[in-house]
Order: sequence, then structure tokens, then C-alpha cells
Amino acid sequence: MNETSSVTLRQHTIELHLRHTFRLSRGASDARRNVILELEHEGLIGLGEAAPIARYGQSAESSARALATMSERLGEPMEFDEAARRAAVPGEEAAEAALDIALWDLAGKRLGEPIYRLLGLDPEHAPPTSFTIGLDSPEIVTEKVREATGFAALKVKLGTDDDLAVLAAVRSATDQPLRVDANEGWTLDGALTRLETLAALGVELVEQPLPAGELEAMRELKRQSPLPLFADESVHRAADIPRLVGAFDGINIKLMKCGGIGEALRMIRVARALGMRIMLGCMIETSIGITAAAHLLPLVDYADLDGHLLITNDPFVGARLEEGRLVPTSAPGLGVEERR
Ligand code: MG
Repeated sequence: MNETSSVTLRQHTIELHLRHTFRLSRGASDARRNVILELEHEGLIGLGEAAPIARYGQSAESSARALATMSERLGEPMEFDEAARRAAVPGEEAAEAALDIALWDLAGKRLGEPIYRLLGLDPEHAPPTSFTIGLDSPEIVTEKVREATGFAALKVKLGTDDDLAVLAAVRSATDQPLRVDANEGWTLDGALTRLETLAALGVELVEQPLPAGELEAMRELKRQSPLPLFADESVHRAADIPRLVGAFDGINIKLMKCGGIGEALRMIRVARALGMRIMLGCMIETSIGITAAAHLLPLVDYADLDGHLLITNDPFVGARLEEGRLVPTSAPGLGVEERR
């Protein structure tokens, strides 16, 4: 526990259990360790969450250390955007997001308004969310697709030699719109040969076909691609977006990748100014992180906020699925409570 003026920071690590072993082109896992943050100030508690991203060298331990450091630099919590920025520890964006989310929750509770209202947004204008189908054999993928009812679109993880068989299996099990995420798993030639087939199977967009740094190859791919291409691993923060023009049609913003709501809003403004489309995505998160992102949904074109649905032990309740759309409650702040 750390105290800075009248702000008290408490944090604990939780283990989240995945419904299915989660496979991407770069590995598999059955559990995640996230950090839950409570920021107490003058009788109110703001909730935050860090879902550390191993690919960027983060862990529950590094997030916890960063949060302890940040709590010492926090200052006045009602200056929530400035406070989050001045406290940030470089390279620990998941911890930065936890602090930023807790500060927004606290501010909303102090002002008696949900976050979407602080932003002047109507939650009914959220795009419907997709549901993610992890990498697996065509048989298991088909089973997962049959379980995934009530969503407007499915996001299928690809990035192996089996890709076209997997996607054909998905297509034979559903006629829902499909999105594909290759998680950097293809080469330029491999992507070019797959994209025509993907388009013929009714895929609506493809996320991160090539490794993050290969922007020249991406420009070539975009020139020839029949499908819109979205950056995920190639984009973290607002400053990354201008160099993606001509290489991607859109970006996938994640609170854990960018450092929270404040930076996500800056990314949305930059992407819009550059004519890019926007998806709001997530990591494996509880309803704290997912609900924080849900408040921003009216600002974006595509939602991919299913991280809390991929775990069996979400300790919180927040935004609810209503006809395929994720809608926050009208409670002040995040509108997240502990599950009873
Ligand atoms: Mg992705």
C-alpha cells in the first residue's frame, strides 16, 4: 500500500482462467495474470486493471512495480488526464492504463456521471462487438464457432499453414461476417496468396498480416489487397499513426497497449484526421478493462471487446451485451462492481 497526499493505492494480482487454450501464431496459454488496482480518494474508490503484454516485456510483477512508482508521482487525482501522463512509467503501458482507468472511474464517481457522459457520448451508438476464435484445428474451430452465438461478427485467429482449411471450416459452420487476425504470422507472398481466398470467403478485414516493422512490405500488400488491412502490433500510441498512412486502412486501439482512455482518445483524433478506420480491441481482461473501453465505443467503427468472455472467473460485472453490442451501465464512473 502506498499513500500520496490523500490518495491510497491498493493492488493485487489475479489469475484469470481461459475457457479454451488460447493460441496465436506466436504461442498458447491457459491463464493470464492481471493486476487489479483500487485508488481511494476522499471516500470514493476508482477501479483499474493492468493486463500485461508479454510480447512487450511486461508481467504482473513489472506492472505492480510500475504502479507503486506511479502512485508516488500522482498528485491531484481530479486532474485525471494530466495525472496519468505525469505518473506514467515508459514501457509499462498496461500499468499506465490501470492508473488511467482508475482515475477516470474516480472522476466519474466524484462528478456523479458515467464516463461516456463525461465524453459527451451516447452508448447506444456503439458498433456491435466481434467474438474471437483462437487458432486451432479445423474441427475444434468449428466447435468454437457453434458455441459463439449472439455476436455480429467473428474474429478468427490465423497465421499457420492451415489457414485456408481453418477458414473454410469456419465458413461452413456460420454465415456471420468474419474478420481475420494473422498476428504478424504471414510473409508478403503468403499474404498475397491468401487474401483473394479470404475475400471470396466473405472476410471483411484483415488485422496485422505481416511483422510489425515491415511497413514497406505492408505498402506493397495494401496496393494489391482486395480487403481492408488493420494495424495492431504496428501501432501503440498516437505518435505511431502518421507513418502507417498508405500501409494500413485502419488501426486497432487497445487500452493496455496505448496506456489508457486518455491516449486512446488522442489516437482516435489522429486516426480520424488521417482518414483511417478504427477498431477498439482488448487483451484478456476482466470487466474492468473491457468496460473502460466500452465507454469509448461510440467513437469507433469496429468493436472487438470480448476478453472478459474468454475467461471463466471474471470477478467483476460491468458493460453488458445487448443484441451483440457492449453497453456500459449508467452508474457513475466505469459502472463496474464486484460480482456477487
Ligand atoms: Mg490483433
